[in-house]
Amino acid sequence: MRKTREYQALFEACSQEGCPICRLALEGTRRYLEAWKYEMFTDVSIRAELRRTQGFCHRHTWQLANMGAHLPLAQAYRDIVTDTIDQLKRGNDIASPASGSLFRRFFDTHREQPACPACTQQAKAEGHLIHTLRKSLSDEEFYQHMQNSDGLCLEHYRLACELKLPDTPGGDWQSLLRKIQLSCLQRLDEQLGEMIRKHDYRFKDEARGPEMISWKRATGLIAGEEDPS
Ligand SMILES: [Zn+2]
Ligand SMILES: [Zn+2]
Repeated sequence: MRKTREYQALFEACSQEGCPICRLALEGTRRYLEAWKYEMFTDVSIRAELRRTQGFCHRHTWQLANMGAHLPLAQAYRDIVTDTIDQLKRGNDIASPASGSLFRRFFDTHREQPACPACTQQAKAEGHLIHTLRKSLSDEEFYQHMQNSDGLCLEHYRLACELKLPDTPGGDWQSLLRKIQLSCLQRLDEQLGEMIRKHDYRFKDEARGPEMISWKRATGLIAGEEDPS
């Protein structure tokens, strides 16, 4: 198969710790937020979109704040403050964004609604990565390499199996992915068992190895990986 830039990126991400799709999607979102901070925030259509969605979601707003995007946030969020003032002056209730940010925050419905532009961008990137993953599984070298990785987090495994994408390759990518995920999970399960066993005082003098960070692998796998940036 043709080894595209995305194939190479996915292959490399499998050599690193944690779910490769989390890693690449988080890196992509970070780049998107950097671009917004330095130039996109002045773009008229992006400003209008942020008005419509009433800003970024909670996570991406504070990520931007921590990245020092203070002036861009002041400008973009002032639009929303002035919209709200207008509504109150007219005696109206404060309009909810199409997605309802509070509702979205607590019930995580952001995938169904026009929401935070950074979440939308991340969902698109995940779609591209899953498309590449499905195609790459038929490549023997990729298959072996991924089998030695930490595997996908549960959310991305589900998405990789269920996401409806145009041009999904035929063949047995689903059973190949299931086999990889199963062997990654079994390896993790053994390491967790070892870690738990070695916390027993009777075995506390035994040498400790990579199994001692298996809690972190399990945490990333169940909850999604921590943003490494
Ligand atoms: Zn993931
Ligand atoms: Zn977001």
